[in-house]
Parts: sequence; C-alpha cells; structure tokens
Amino acid sequence: MANNNKLDLESLNELDDKLEKLDKLEIAEILNDQECWCRYGLKFFCMGCGRCCRGEPGAIFFNQQEFNIIAKTLGISRLELREKYVTMRWGRPSFKERPNGDCIFYNSLKARCMIYPVRPTQCRTFPFWPEVLKSRESWDKFASRCPGMNEGELFLPSRILDFVEECNSWFEDKTGKSNK
Ligand code: SF4
Ligand code: SF4
Repeated sequence: MANNNKLDLESLNELDDKLEKLDKLEIAEILNDQECWCRYGLKFFCMGCGRCCRGEPGAIFFNQQEFNIIAKTLGISRLELREKYVTMRWGRPSFKERPNGDCIFYNSLKARCMIYPVRPTQCRTFPFWPEVLKSRESWDKFASRCPGMNEGELFLPSRILDFVEECNSWFEDKTGKSNK
C-alpha cells in the first residue's frame, strides 16, 4: 500500500493497470452506480500533519509543467532543481527523500510542505486516487494513517470524479518522463 502521498511500486503497478482497464466513462459509471460504496460522498480535510510526506520510501512523481512551476517558485533553475531534488524511482523521475524517508520538500521544523501551493498533482489529489477509492476497505486502510480522511468537507461523487480524472490524466502523461 502506498504511504499516502507517496506511491509505492505496488500502487504504481496498480494505477498503471487501472489506466489500461478503466477509461473516464467507466470510472464515472462506478462512482455514479447506486451501489457504489461512496455514493453519498466522502469527507476529507487536510490537517497538514505531514504524515503522508514522511515514513516509508515511495515515489513523488511530477510532470513537466509542475516541474517548471516548482523551479520558478523556488527561484532556482530547472537544472538546479533536477540536480538537487530529483532522483529516478522505478524508471521515472521522482522527488528525492531524505535518509529518514521525509520527502525532500518536507520541512520538519515547520511540519509542512515547502512547496504546498504548487505541490504535484499526485499530492494534491490525495486521497481521491483510484487505488484508494476502489473499495471501502482500501479507503479505511488509508484513513487509518491520514487523520484528515472522514473529517471536514463532504465531497460528492461528481467532485470526486473530477479528482480521479485529474489524477488519471496527469498520470497518463507518464509522470514527467521528459525531465530525464
Ligand atoms: S491530513 Fe492526511 S493528507 Fe493531510 S498531511 Fe496529514 S496525512 Fe497528509
Ligand atoms: S511535495 Fe509536499 S505534499 Fe508532496 S510529499 Fe513532498 S512534502 Fe508532501
């Protein structure tokens, strides 16, 4: 299972597999199904605890546009961003982690993401990933590590679908392969 914002290899393969099997209409059908486990919506409010930015190793993927915006936000060149902050994870560029597992952009003193307003789609769309939404069991598993799930704002299926679509189309562009 992924460590929340971070993708592990199992989740990555699952997401790849899902993209082959599910197109947007099929996802919409699942979410609109009267029997769908989350047909009444799901609550989520990010409490900014940073738990999903730390811990077990994982991948933090990004696309070219996100990469460019992050470089601009940090006020550094794309070359510097690539050299200091990017590594390869399972054949794709990913942001680095520190030896303790923290994402390179996680500021442990302030307990927050240093690039929060421009964080990659992978982080921004959590927990509305196909992998998390596939069943109540999966949602509950992730929720056991994320205090913001089942709290705060109610997201109705149409809005959840927007996130899923965004997540999928982002993932389809193969996570910034051109940054290599
Ligand atoms: S509330 Fe959840 S999504 Fe927000 S930082 Fe904590 S673990 Fe991550
Ligand atoms: S980019 Fe920000 S939100 Fe995403 S894992 Fe790193 S610290 Fe967390």
